[in-house]
Amino acid sequence: MIIIGLDGATWKIIMKNIEDLKTIKSLMDRGYHGTIYLKYKPLSPAIWTSMFSGISPRIHNHWDFIKNNSLVKRDDIPVKFIWEILYEKGYDVYVLNVPFIIPPYNFRVEFKPIGYGLPITEKECLDEINLITNKALEIIEKKPDLFIFVYTALDRYSHLHWGEKKLLDFYILIDKALSKIFNNYDGDYIIVSDHGFTDLNKARYKTLKRYDNIKGEHDIDAIYISNMNLNIQQPEDIFYIIKRYFHV
Ligand SMILES: [Zn+2]
Repeated sequence: MIIIGLDGATWKIIMKNIEDLKTIKSLMDRGYHGTIYLKYKPLSPAIWTSMFSGISPRIHNHWDFIKNNSLVKRDDIPVKFIWEILYEKGYDVYVLNVPFIIPPYNFRVEFKPIGYGLPITEKECLDEINLITNKALEIIEKKPDLFIFVYTALDRYSHLHWGEKKLLDFYILIDKALSKIFNNYDGDYIIVSDHGFTDLNKARYKTLKRYDNIKGEHDIDAIYISNMNLNIQQPEDIFYIIKRYFHV
């Protein structure tokens, strides 16, 4: 099984432009999709942690990359992740670039992210797509039992370019990356975002510390697409779906 995270992906962009997003359209046509309406503040560290630990943010309490002026480390977060559970049971699992900490977390993968895992410039954002895709294809070749990887730059790009045509261009690049992945993989998959996005003026939540040049803000509408008919209500459900899938 592979899980592909698209940080900040929303139906608001995908549905309006579905004819330009050919891979996503074909995955949707052949599989299942839905919306995850978050019941808590749409903060990426909290959601990715919950998605892969099954623990609600109110309990693990990891909301921010920074605590007491220093970067939070994996070991500071009191949860056991699904990849740790499966690895202990002898499954071949890999994790690439999951941004619940900065730089994003890897498990059994050597990876140096662009810009310490916070791609900001146009070039950094574009480079990230290629870097993650190439590394992912390398790992997919090993035929892992479980492989989780996340594209993070879409989040930055949506903050900076919400409402601009450029954002659609970026979705199209991600769509092309997905086409490369699925040309080399035909097993079970879940594509999932941690939260959606909206216009800064309509946002219910403030998730940033500074707002210079910012146009988009997080929203509670996360997405999923899968070849399996799943009922995903909250990010935590993904943890239990993977657990059941591997009978652990
Ligand atoms: Zn995010």
